[in-house]
Amino acid sequence: MTRRVAIVTGGASGIGGAIARRLAADGAAVAIFDLDGGAARAAAAALEAVGGTARGYTVDVTDRAAVDAGVEQTRGDLGRPTVLVNSAGMTPPPTPFLDTTFELWRRTISVNLDGTFHCCQSVLPEMVAEGWGRIVNISSSSMHSGVPRLSSYVTSKSGVVGLTKVLALEFGPRGITVNTIPPGFIDTPMLRASEKEGLMKTEEQIARTPVGRIGQPEDIAAACAFLIREEAGYITGQVIGVNGGRNT
Ligand code: NAP
Repeated sequence: MTRRVAIVTGGASGIGGAIARRLAADGAAVAIFDLDGGAARAAAAALEAVGGTARGYTVDVTDRAAVDAGVEQTRGDLGRPTVLVNSAGMTPPPTPFLDTTFELWRRTISVNLDGTFHCCQSVLPEMVAEGWGRIVNISSSSMHSGVPRLSSYVTSKSGVVGLTKVLALEFGPRGITVNTIPPGFIDTPMLRASEKEGLMKTEEQIARTPVGRIGQPEDIAAACAFLIREEAGYITGQVIGVNGGRNT
């Protein structure tokens, strides 16, 4: 990758962490935005220790002022960001729809969908100024299948897919591609927390997965790295499932 500046939200953990490592290894300067600023800075320091260029910032993606400040700091520290990967996300406790409070609904939409809105709207002007950009939104395979007791989560991730398609249409003429990867069954702290909550059992899920294994964060990072490459410039507005064949 030519030296690009990439912002990875949720880059201190799980899928975002693997994407940050992969993009840094491919030559990007990486800005890690995460709720936990200490973890974001530690992840960035780990990338620098192996020869990468990275910074970590405390950014709550639900807070537009914090997102704008993070983008500003990134520009000052690393240069103009032209790659954005929205991986920050949360899964609410599994709750039947009739017991889902509006607060829980709003909180999930706020992190998973509003957060993606804020980051896209804050970074896109940088991409427009450059005449080039790449956005990859991490949605969820749950938007293919639905999941009982996760109405707010599935709705938020379905919204991310819709936003992806609209942004691809609006910004394609400006040299910017926008795609979404809905991961399915990836071994991260979020997935292990879902297992503890009783949402699924790893062994049962492996049995249902055609490739016969749990996905690794690096599986998502590989697809993401491809979408960001120059040669992927004709791919936009697409939903690129990475799920071991579970949702075909
Ligand atoms: P993860 O390990 O929990 O990583 C999510 C990261 O996002 C954490 O570092 C978390 O910080 C951060 N975050 C949460 N709320 C935030 C906010 N408001 N502002 C900034 N950062 C925030 O989970 P993951 O499995 O890698 O998930 C990454 C993405 O993949 C999520 O969008 C998730 O919905 C999606 N996904 C994952 C799977 C899977 O199988 N793992 C499947 C489908 C979709 P804290 O830890 O401090 O909260």
